[in-house]
Amino acid sequence: MLLLALLLAAPLPALGEPVEDRGEKRSPGVWPERTYRWWYNPQHHPVWLDAAQARTWVLAAAKQWENCGVRMEYQGETGHAPGAMDGINVVGWSLDMPRQIRGITQGRAAAGRLLERDIAIRPDREEFARFPRLLRKVIMHEFGHALGLTHSPRCDDVMTLAADCPRAHPSTLPLMPTGNDLERCLALYRAD
Ligand SMILES: [Zn+2]
Repeated sequence: MLLLALLLAAPLPALGEPVEDRGEKRSPGVWPERTYRWWYNPQHHPVWLDAAQARTWVLAAAKQWENCGVRMEYQGETGHAPGAMDGINVVGWSLDMPRQIRGITQGRAAAGRLLERDIAIRPDREEFARFPRLLRKVIMHEFGHALGLTHSPRCDDVMTLAADCPRAHPSTLPLMPTGNDLERCLALYRAD
């Protein structure tokens, strides 16, 4: 089993320490048939966010990546925990990660094919409550990893490794993949 820990370090020096990244340097692969089928586990959503709004933002974040030509097929709600390598792709919330991590994508892949990708977002980060836009960007960023994308060196990208980009402000964070994000995604799937 391959476990890939990906974390988002955001460009917010005032909000905490930059986080060391342990993400993938090379893409582990792509989804067969360009289709990511995922379930949502609503448990442990942020207390400041009602359940319906939390689900809406997760669905919206997934939808943004369809501009890459990948189908993001929402399967419904599940009680399966995100991060358990149980054969289904679960997106949800979890406190079961190091405190400095905002979100994590874990998965399995073989021979350039993704087999499973689970996304867990940490619901208790106070900067998410202060800057909901940051939460929405983190969710979108993790969906990018779920599609096989690695980090971008460009600071304005959704897929940026933001620890290298100290000047961005939460109010300016992108709410959709940039042209460069989509180009990187298209290139990944075009090469398939
Ligand atoms: Zn990342």
